[in-house]
Amino acid sequence: MAHAAHCDHDHEHDHKPGPTAVAHELAAAEARCAAAEQKLTAPRRRVLELLLETGQPAKAYDLIAAFGADGKPAKPPTVYRALEFLEKQGFAHRIESLNAYVACRMGEAGHDAAFLICDCCGATREVDPSAAKGIADAGALAGYAVSHVTIEAHGKCADCQA
Ligand SMILES: [Zn+2]
Ligand SMILES: [Zn+2]
Ligand SMILES: [Zn+2]
Repeated sequence: MAHAAHCDHDHEHDHKPGPTAVAHELAAAEARCAAAEQKLTAPRRRVLELLLETGQPAKAYDLIAAFGADGKPAKPPTVYRALEFLEKQGFAHRIESLNAYVACRMGEAGHDAAFLICDCCGATREVDPSAAKGIADAGALAGYAVSHVTIEAHGKCADCQA
């Protein structure tokens, strides 16, 4: 994924999991879908695979372009519908401030999420969303039925501060 570089050091820190890790995550996703009586259809599986391989937030149009193993792009609705499913089942999160999607490895459907986002290299990490509870509580006090909370914190990762 290309990121706007705001500093001139190299951004070669590798966040990509190996093929074994991706295969393992996909197998776990299949099992979770089966247990929840959901189908991890071929397009859903392919989009999840692309997100896992990237290891970082990916834009929908990048997923559409990379979709076909034969180099053919997907029909956009195929990818958007797959993303919707993955998000709902807790396999992926949408990061609003990046307009991108990222795979989730927490193994839990529909949980609150918090992200640390490096504005320099784009490295994004999902962290414990304990602060989400405070927001949900404030929502309840204000009479809002909060369905989920996603917190996005921007800054610089450890590598980019060095
Ligand atoms: Zn998550
Ligand atoms: Zn960084
Ligand atoms: Zn940097």
